[in-house]
Amino acid sequence: MKDIRTLSLDELKDYFATIGEKPFRAKQVYDWLWSKNLHSIDEMTNLSKPLRDRILQDFIINPVSVDVLQKSTDGTIKNGVKLHDGLMVESVLIPTETRTTACVSSQVGCSLNCEFCATAKLKRMRNLEVAEIVDQVALIDKQSKLYFDRPLSNIVFMGMGEPMMNYKNVVEAIRKITQSDGMGMSPKRITVSTSGMPKMIKMLADEDLKVKLALSLHSAIEKTRNEIMPFSTKFPLTDIMEALQYWYQKTGNVITFEYCVWKGINDKDEDIKALIKYCKKVPSKVNLIQYNPIGEGKYDHRSIEAEERYVRELSKAGVTVMVRRSRGGDIDAACGQLANKTN
Ligand code: SAH
Repeated sequence: MKDIRTLSLDELKDYFATIGEKPFRAKQVYDWLWSKNLHSIDEMTNLSKPLRDRILQDFIINPVSVDVLQKSTDGTIKNGVKLHDGLMVESVLIPTETRTTACVSSQVGCSLNCEFCATAKLKRMRNLEVAEIVDQVALIDKQSKLYFDRPLSNIVFMGMGEPMMNYKNVVEAIRKITQSDGMGMSPKRITVSTSGMPKMIKMLADEDLKVKLALSLHSAIEKTRNEIMPFSTKFPLTDIMEALQYWYQKTGNVITFEYCVWKGINDKDEDIKALIKYCKKVPSKVNLIQYNPIGEGKYDHRSIEAEERYVRELSKAGVTVMVRRSRGGDIDAACGQLANKTN
């Protein structure tokens, strides 16, 4: 049977018309599904029992459920989220003094092959449905209220998967999360992180979603980047830059470059120079992400000394740079550690 959440509002209206109901029923149901995140048709209390029974004959709702919940000593919560077909993704709640961030997944596994990332070691199983993305946000919002007494404030698409490889569903999920008749969250507090597909970046810029964009760069030297992220041979840095400039021109939003520093890989002065030159081509800032080792040999040595040089040189060159503290490392919830160890 079909999941009722695969229907648009117009399709819901058509459905209610075919069963002889008024169009406003569609709006009522849409509100339960997308604004209240209700997972049970039987709890739609403003519908009559016969009508609920009729809907139940025609549709199901595929829920997600938290299968395993792990809490880090720093407050980070990692959820092993079970999908209707038994597959698992991970969704992380990251609290700070003032905000709660949800780090959500867009795919089961990942299509890409970044050498340093634990998720890349899994094979991509499938794309997440719109509702499966929205459900992650809703469940972390509930956890934030329960454990921190405040609603979710930010969302980052930095969990498992490459958002641009599940483009349609990610965009639709963002619409459901931000629409006033959906969850009503501000798009300014949503960041889509991509490893860099130029065409998709431009397409996303044209959607006019008002979200932020982060690009996983890790090296501004083509050859080095291609070794670290082998799929990127298909996407030259010049094409990515052109797409980022287009993004800025269309959205006016500063781009964040995500960057890890590894001993012997991108710790030399020429690496720093290349990065400065690259990010000066578009209004941007650099987030130096603390690398979380995943036992991949070559990439297991983060260079703190080189990180400090990066910060010094970037600042001197007038580039905004931040060192991002890693969170949830003790429960494998940190960047690049999401790999369903719970399975
Ligand atoms: N596929 C998307 C989003 C997922 S990864 C992307 O590539 O942007 C989110 C961020 O974590 C990316 O910048 C990625 O490069 C980084 N990352 C991956 N593995 C990591 C690890 N082990 N330690 C620190 N950061 C990592």
